[in-house]
Amino acid sequence: MPNTLLMPQKRSRSAIHTSENFVEERIEGAGDTFLVSFLDGYLFYSPRANVSMILNEFGASTVRKYFRKEALLPNEQSLVDHLASQGVFQITEGRQETFPNPSTRWAPTSATFSNTQKCTLRCKYCYAEGGRLEDLDIPWTVAKAAIDLIVKNATVQQVNPSISFLGEGEATASWSVFQKIIEYFKEQCSLHSLTPTVSLSTNGVFSPTRLDYIAENCTHLTFSLDGVRDVHNENRVLPNGGGSFDRIIATMKGLEERGKTYDIRSTVTAAGSSTLAEFVLFVGENLQCKSIHFEPVFDVTGVTNLQGQIDRIDAQTFVDHFREARRVAAGFGIELYYSGAATKHRETFCGASNASTFLVTSRGIVTSCNEVLQPSDPRAKLFQYGEWNQEAGEFIVDQEAIDRLGRLNVHEMPKCQGCIAKYNCAGDCYAKSASVSSSGDPAAAGYTERCHITRELLKDNLLIGLISKLAAVGKPDQAPHSC
Ligand code: SF4
Ligand code: SF4
Repeated sequence: MPNTLLMPQKRSRSAIHTSENFVEERIEGAGDTFLVSFLDGYLFYSPRANVSMILNEFGASTVRKYFRKEALLPNEQSLVDHLASQGVFQITEGRQETFPNPSTRWAPTSATFSNTQKCTLRCKYCYAEGGRLEDLDIPWTVAKAAIDLIVKNATVQQVNPSISFLGEGEATASWSVFQKIIEYFKEQCSLHSLTPTVSLSTNGVFSPTRLDYIAENCTHLTFSLDGVRDVHNENRVLPNGGGSFDRIIATMKGLEERGKTYDIRSTVTAAGSSTLAEFVLFVGENLQCKSIHFEPVFDVTGVTNLQGQIDRIDAQTFVDHFREARRVAAGFGIELYYSGAATKHRETFCGASNASTFLVTSRGIVTSCNEVLQPSDPRAKLFQYGEWNQEAGEFIVDQEAIDRLGRLNVHEMPKCQGCIAKYNCAGDCYAKSASVSSSGDPAAAGYTERCHITRELLKDNLLIGLISKLAAVGKPDQAPHSC
């Protein structure tokens, strides 16, 4: 699909239009097509048609006139004809994704195990309160039943099943349970001629004697590493209060020696936000990692028993330093990621919608959200939709709860309707929105600092996409397709 650069000819800025205190960036009469001030001109973005372009003042006013069905001057008509020939004016409105009745289709082929509450760290901002609960491990009957269920569904649906480890603690801290789950899953996949995928999100603090097993059995690895040594060690501490940075780096290097690739997931605190570029430089110079996911810290003190204060991050500071870090990352071929600003089209933010995520906790609770794990969480009613029933010997899911989760999509979020990031952010993390909304309803939440970050970084990503396309057009074997 076309992406076009029509470079600006004169400086101009337009204000964000809001109605009823909601952002309104759609072009009048153009459905879900957006036009916002950007750099010295305007960014035109039609996410559903996968079209973006930079327009100057003349281009922007012409496009607005066209969609308002006003009479056009000859030079305006000429521009419109050109853009139309590029497929720019496909008007798109309403839903694209179909949302089947969730209660008739819940048949997961992947499971996430929160297999233990034990943890080798005591991170100060931890949403899961790892190591500070009851040190429960998931009962084997529950874990086995979850594997049996997804393998059965995968066989029927003719897809490959997958399992992930993420949740209340450090998955490897309960080593025998961790291994048993993987072994049984692989055995069942082999029996049914399926290809298993195993993903592990880890804090990286485990014995080096486990490296061989992890390298051999985990398909995808994600390490939590928050920044340069001092920044990381401020929050991600061992039970004795000592920093964990050096332990994690040693683990990463051990996996690199075994030929394993991995990603980094970095929680950015207020204190750490100004050191993103320094951190990326460290990774580029010392590690082989090529993907870093930055996410601002979120204050979970309202939904957990954690004490103390988690300082909120300043949105513009995060954006400024993300941009600076991106320039450093480019020199090492490292990709930076922030969850709200992905250019991929989506109408739901994550697997919490439609109960797509089948996460089983150490208590046998079934939840759709990776962060809403305890029955005491005020958001449990929204995200937890089932539990293991020992007598029945199966997971019993609540159809009403699944139906409620089916309404977690961008079309149900009033604040998002006119936002340029509507089909990329899709309403942002519903658990975070639920915790800042006074009613606990994600749809009722107002704008957060994450909205500013998302909108700014999305514009950057769209521009990078345009520049990449232009670079491709410049290659001799590529036919030009834009002006
Ligand atoms: S709702 Fe938020 S915390 Fe929960 S799974 Fe989705 S993105 Fe993660
Ligand atoms: S949550 Fe995302 S889509 Fe909604 S207003 Fe904020 S940035 Fe825009």
